[in-house]
Amino acid sequence: MSEKKELKVKSIKNGTVIDHIRQNRAANVLSMLNLPDDETPVMVAINVESSNMGKKDIVKIEGRELSGEEVDKLALLTPLASVNIIRDYEIVNKFNVHLTDEVIDVVKCTNPNCISNSNEPIHDKFYVQEKEPITLRCHYCERTMDYEDIESQF
Ligand SMILES: [Zn+2]
Repeated sequence: MSEKKELKVKSIKNGTVIDHIRQNRAANVLSMLNLPDDETPVMVAINVESSNMGKKDIVKIEGRELSGEEVDKLALLTPLASVNIIRDYEIVNKFNVHLTDEVIDVVKCTNPNCISNSNEPIHDKFYVQEKEPITLRCHYCERTMDYEDIESQF
């Protein structure tokens, strides 16, 4: 089966298909994207068979392309996701999200006393201590954050 058929991109004229979302995380991805709203057509597939992931989720969003910030957040929620940008029914760009070793200005430290939560003009900065399950460690106070700490901020 061709990849195009598998993704059913025919169903989207312009927009984004997020594939290889970790099973049961589609709702977290939608929440991060502030979806659903009252206008954007969104299709969600949950617990779809995947040849290399066991099961996966897929989200298709009509009329919207992800910002760089949204892609950074996506990498924290589901680090194996792939993003397909669709224009006029064709995939014009396809890339895998990339979880870098340092996460800057994407999430905030959960420690209220952390200097990054003061009025100092400094960047939020974390090190990826574990990728799965995800654990971030604050550059400033060394507080660690898990998936729930991250997801709840989106
Ligand atoms: Zn901190």
